[in-house]
Amino acid sequence: MSEAEYLTVQQALTAVLAGVAVLPAERVPLLDALGRVLAQDVVAQVSLPPFANSSMDGYALIAADLADASPDNPATLRVIGDVAAGAVLDVTVARGTAVRIMTGAPLPPGADAVVPVEDTNEAWRNRERPLPTQIQVNRSVQPGDYIRHPGEDIEAGHTILVKGHVLRPQEVGVLASLGVSEVEVIRRPRVAILATGDELLEIDQPLQPGKIRNSNGYTQAAQVLALGAEPIVLGIAGDTETAVRQKLQEGLDAQADLFISSAGVSVGAYDVVKAVLEQEGNVGFWRVRMRPGKPLAYGSYHGVPYLGLPGNPVSAMVSFERFARAAILKMSGKALLDRPTVQATVREEIHSDGRESYLRAVVTRSGSGYEATQTGDQGSHIMTSLVRANALLIVPEAVYTVVPGSQLTAWMLDWPEAIF
Ligand code: AMP
Ligand code: MG
Repeated sequence: MSEAEYLTVQQALTAVLAGVAVLPAERVPLLDALGRVLAQDVVAQVSLPPFANSSMDGYALIAADLADASPDNPATLRVIGDVAAGAVLDVTVARGTAVRIMTGAPLPPGADAVVPVEDTNEAWRNRERPLPTQIQVNRSVQPGDYIRHPGEDIEAGHTILVKGHVLRPQEVGVLASLGVSEVEVIRRPRVAILATGDELLEIDQPLQPGKIRNSNGYTQAAQVLALGAEPIVLGIAGDTETAVRQKLQEGLDAQADLFISSAGVSVGAYDVVKAVLEQEGNVGFWRVRMRPGKPLAYGSYHGVPYLGLPGNPVSAMVSFERFARAAILKMSGKALLDRPTVQATVREEIHSDGRESYLRAVVTRSGSGYEATQTGDQGSHIMTSLVRANALLIVPEAVYTVVPGSQLTAWMLDWPEAIF
C-alpha cells in the first residue's frame, strides 16, 4: 500500500488496536506483578483475619462482668494472664477475670470482649510493666467489642480478585496476606524502538554541523517504561535500507512484540523506512487528520506489529500518546486505554485548521472546574512546550475557531497538582 490514506484519529486508532492482541500470561513473583493485569482468578485459601484477635491494647474479659461499670463504680477483675501478638495463651477467661492482651493477639478462650487499656486504672502500653494482679475498669462493653472476627475481611473459598484486575499496591498487599507469592499476569510487552535519520547522533556524542541528538528514542523508551512495558532500544539507523533492515532484524532477534520507529514515514526523498516496510512488511502509510502528527505508518514487519511515528519530537510524542499507548495497554491486557480527561474552560481564542488538534496546555483548577492555557509556541519541534504542559487540549475535527469561555476536553498527561 503506497498511496497515503486519509483517516480520522478514531479510524487510525481502531485500525491500530485491531492489529494487536493481548499477550500471553506468565507466572511472576508477587512484586513483579505490580501494575500488571491478573490472568487468573484468586480464591482465598484462608480466612482473614484467620482467628479472633484484639483491635486494641487492653484486657480480654467477659462483657457481662462490666454491666454496671462506670467511672464512679468501676468493676474489679482479677488478671490471670498476658497475651502478646504472635503468642497463644491457653488460659480460659472465667467470670471475674481478665487477660492482658495486645493489638493483634488472639482472643483467649472464654473472653467475649476487649476493653481498651485507657478505660482501666492500668493505662500502660509497656509490656515490660509487670502484670497487675487486678484491674479496675470504668466502663461497660458489648460482647464482640474491640474484637476482629475471623473472616471479617476475607472468607476462605471466596473469589477475592478476578482475571483482568489491575494489581495496585493494595491488591499486592491482599495477595501477600493470602500467602500468594507468585501470580499469573499478562506478560509485559517488549517494544523495540528505532530512530531513523542520517542527522541523528547518540546522546553522548558532541554535536556536529547539521546533526542533532536522537531524542525520540529516549522519549519513546521512557513512554514505554512509564506504561510498565519493556523497551528494546535499537538506537539509530541511518537513511539507508540496509541500516534500517539491520536494526529491525535486531528487534526480531530480541523477540519484540511491537516495533515503534520515528521519522522516515512522510513523503521525503530519504524515507527509506517506507521502502523497507513495503518490501518486507505489510504496512499502510496513512495521513491522519490530526495535528500534530499527520503521517503515521501502521502494519506489521515479519509478523510483528509495526507503528511508524513522525520524526518531529512533539509529533512523535503526541502520536505515541494517542496510538502507541493504547496499543501497548491493550497488549498488556488493560481495558482502560485512554488517559483521564476533564472538561476545561479556555481563556484565549484558538484557531485550528479543521484537523483534530492536540494542543499542549496547562490545566489548573478554577472554582469547581478546570481552566486551560496553551504553553506557548505549538511548533512540532518545540519540546519545551511539552515540558510545560500537563495536558493535551483537544480541538475537535472540523472546528476552526474556539472562542474564549468555551469548554474543551483536556487529555490529562499528569494530574494538575502533580507537577505544578
Ligand atoms: P522526518 O520525518 O525524517 O522528515 O523528520 C522530521 C523532523 O524530525 C526532522 O527535523 C528530523 O531531524 C527530526 N527528527 C527525526 N528523528 C528524530 C529523533 N530521533 N530525535 C529528534 N529529532 C528527530
Ligand atoms: Mg528524516
